[in-house]
Amino acid sequence: MNQALVQDVVSEVMRRLGHRAPGGNGASTTHRVPTGVRAGEDAPANEPQRRATYARPHDAGVPVGQHGVFERVDDAVGAATEAQKKLVRLSLDDRDGIVKLIKSMARENAQAWGRIELEETKIGRLDHKIEKLQILELVPGVEFLRTDATSGSNGLCIEEYAPFGVIGIITPVTHSIPTLSANAINMIAAGNSIVANPHPNGTHCAAVAVREYNRAIAAKYGIDHLITCIVPPTLETADQIFNHRGIPLLVVTGGPAVARAALGAKKRAIVAGPGNPPVVVDETACLRNTAESIVKGGAYDNNLLCIGEKQVFCVESVFDKLMAQMEKAGGYVLNDRQVETLTKQAFKVDPKDNKHHVNKDLVGKDASVLADLAGVRVPPATQLLAGETDKDHLFVQHEQMMPFVPFVRVKSADEAIELAIESEHGYRHTALIHSRNMENVTKFGRRANVTVFVVNGPSMSGLGLGGQGYLSYSIATPTGEGITTPLTFTRYRRVMMTGSLRMI
Ligand code: NAD
Repeated sequence: MNQALVQDVVSEVMRRLGHRAPGGNGASTTHRVPTGVRAGEDAPANEPQRRATYARPHDAGVPVGQHGVFERVDDAVGAATEAQKKLVRLSLDDRDGIVKLIKSMARENAQAWGRIELEETKIGRLDHKIEKLQILELVPGVEFLRTDATSGSNGLCIEEYAPFGVIGIITPVTHSIPTLSANAINMIAAGNSIVANPHPNGTHCAAVAVREYNRAIAAKYGIDHLITCIVPPTLETADQIFNHRGIPLLVVTGGPAVARAALGAKKRAIVAGPGNPPVVVDETACLRNTAESIVKGGAYDNNLLCIGEKQVFCVESVFDKLMAQMEKAGGYVLNDRQVETLTKQAFKVDPKDNKHHVNKDLVGKDASVLADLAGVRVPPATQLLAGETDKDHLFVQHEQMMPFVPFVRVKSADEAIELAIESEHGYRHTALIHSRNMENVTKFGRRANVTVFVVNGPSMSGLGLGGQGYLSYSIATPTGEGITTPLTFTRYRRVMMTGSLRMI
């Protein structure tokens, strides 16, 4: 055991002893059941699951009050404010060093952190949890900061990009450590510090990463608490972050409820909201590449990615051939009865609104688990299930985040484009097309008007994995900043040297 770990264990034991309830039941602050409503459990269809989450105390498993892990929002904001003041006093080279340190730690700890994230959240796939941490290398750092200058008869005008200060972030359960880490890289590169309210079901892994990052940054650069997180996170602590005077900017990554809450906040919010990415396939597509791409993208982390392929609209002339290719590419095609059996498990009607909602118990589960529920045994190597449905099917219209992708047979590319746009519900998030007909590609791209548009490849290529371009796990859709970079988290500032400093 190393010295730091021994200290942690001792301080945690002392803290728990210190907080022993009068009745002596050993309850500590990290083990109590908070009085607030837990953030994220907002789907009425999952009421039983919500109660279970509530009843299970979220033990972050890391000492509170040290290395960025705080119980109270005020304490986190106070510590992050001090840390940010120190950060901006460092040279840009040191800031670059911190960013590189975070990237190298994510890479070195990818196996361990991927595993603890999967154990805690119980959604997704270990190989992809690990890869999502390894590819943080692709997130841009200080090199994205730039100074613009114009000189002329009236002197020199310099435009620079300054930090906001402390940024309040909300992160999703689908990528708890990756989102926290990518946000940290971008935001610290831009000179900011962070207060995070993670998803309750991804709190422990987030807190472990926060502690390790801060420890390493403090040891090398003398700044602790640059990345802070609230344990346990609740809707109340989210609200406190939304309304805190010490936090000038919010960055929210999540589904419809939190996106709505952030858009209604009284301060600037950058919102990375939900998606429901459609795939259009026309008669000119290379069907082998199409099937391989859909399996790769739709199966990635069991379809947890917000950019992941969620429904396919394929022209009838190549529909059956595409389905045959799906089986060759690692997919398994369910028959109609199996699709309907699975649908009954995957969606539940909430008596309150009489509407279907995604059964969160099945989100991010393996294809074999879904296949069992559909009443079929699939080969162990099966990555993705597919099946024919109509255009109004629940699997088409809901962002289901499961490794089952519905395929809709359509008459023409125009019909595919029409229905694809409808199914995206105006999120303006991601859309994909497989086609060698540039007119169809252009038409769909123009009309879909999404933030990420992928042509002839898997969805992840739109985030730099097997494609060009940089990575971020926060794709700001309703607020329009797109795939976030350090510049997204800066304030524009101008310096005008009137009448001087033009040297030529
Ligand atoms: P979620 O909406 O259940 O939770 C996201 C975060 O918001 C969690 O931290 C949660 O605790 C918090 N939250 C939920 N309701 C809240 C409220 N009313 N007030 C304050 N905080 C609240 O989503 P999830 O299941 O964790 O993640 C999946 C969703 O996130 C999908 O819809 C996916 O498309 C979206 N997502 C988007 C991006 C993007 O870059 N655009 C990236 C990842 C995930």
